Amino acid sequence: MLWLRKGLNQPVKTLTVKKSSASTLPGLSSGRPAPTASKNAPLATICPTHALREQEGMMDVDYARCIHCRRCHQPSLKNQMAWEEGYHWAEIRSPSPRLPGAFRHSLHMRVVDAGDCGACLNELHQLASPVYSLHRLGIAFTPTPRDADVLVVTGPVTVSMKEALEEAYRAMPGPKRVMAVGSCALSGGMFASSFAVAGPVERVISVDIAVPGCPPPPLALLDGFRLLMGTASEGPVEGTVKP
Ligand code: SF4
Ligand code: SF4
Repeated sequence: MLWLRKGLNQPVKTLTVKKSSASTLPGLSSGRPAPTASKNAPLATICPTHALREQEGMMDVDYARCIHCRRCHQPSLKNQMAWEEGYHWAEIRSPSPRLPGAFRHSLHMRVVDAGDCGACLNELHQLASPVYSLHRLGIAFTPTPRDADVLVVTGPVTVSMKEALEEAYRAMPGPKRVMAVGSCALSGGMFASSFAVAGPVERVISVDIAVPGCPPPPLALLDGFRLLMGTASEGPVEGTVKP
C-alpha cells in the first residue's frame, strides 16, 4: 500500500487554462533548440538529421527533422544553439485548419500508429492523465475513424500502413482534419531512408496541423488541438504539477 500512501501525500493537480502569462513550464517540456546567431557554421555538420542550416547570419532549425538529441546544445561547443523551454510547437500546414465553432469544446480523435517507436503514442496517452485531463477541454479518444473529427498520425508511414491510413482517412465524416505528430510523421525522422517507409504523412494524406518533436511533450500536443478547435486564443494551458 506504499504507492497509495505516496499518492495521497503527493496529490496531482490538473493544469489550468489561463488567459496570459509565460509559455514555459519547467519539467513539462523537454525544450528544443532555438534559432541562434550563427558564428559557428560547422555546427550544422554535427546534426544527425540535417535539421540545422545557416541563413542570413542565423543558424535556423528545421523542426520537422529535429530529434532533440542536444548535440548542438553542449557547453563544450564554442557557440552552442540556444534552447527554448516553451511548448508552443504546433504549426499550421493548410489554408483552413480550424474546425467550425461547434467543435470548440467537443473534438474526437482517432489515433493511427503508422510506424511509431512508441514514444509519440505514449505522450498522447499522457494527455488522458489527471495532470493534463484532456477530457475537461472536450477532447476524447475514439476507437473508430467513423466518429473522428481529427486523425492523429504518429510515426513515419510504413509501406504496410499506407493503405490502412488512407482507408482511415476516407472513413471519417467531414469536416475532418489531420494532425501529424512527431518528426517521423513530418519528415520520416531517423527512419526516412528505410526501405520499409513510404514517407512522411503529407505524402499520403494532407496535413492540417504539424506538431514537431521526438516526441512532442503533451503540452505541445494540446497546443495543436487548441489550434484545431480555435481555443488557442483563450490563453495557454499552464499551472503546476503539484499543489
Ligand atoms: S537537437 Fe539534435 S537533431 Fe535537433 S537540431 Fe540539434 S543536433 Fe540537430
Ligand atoms: S518522432 Fe521520435 S518519438 Fe516519435 S515515433 Fe519517431 S522516433 Fe519515436
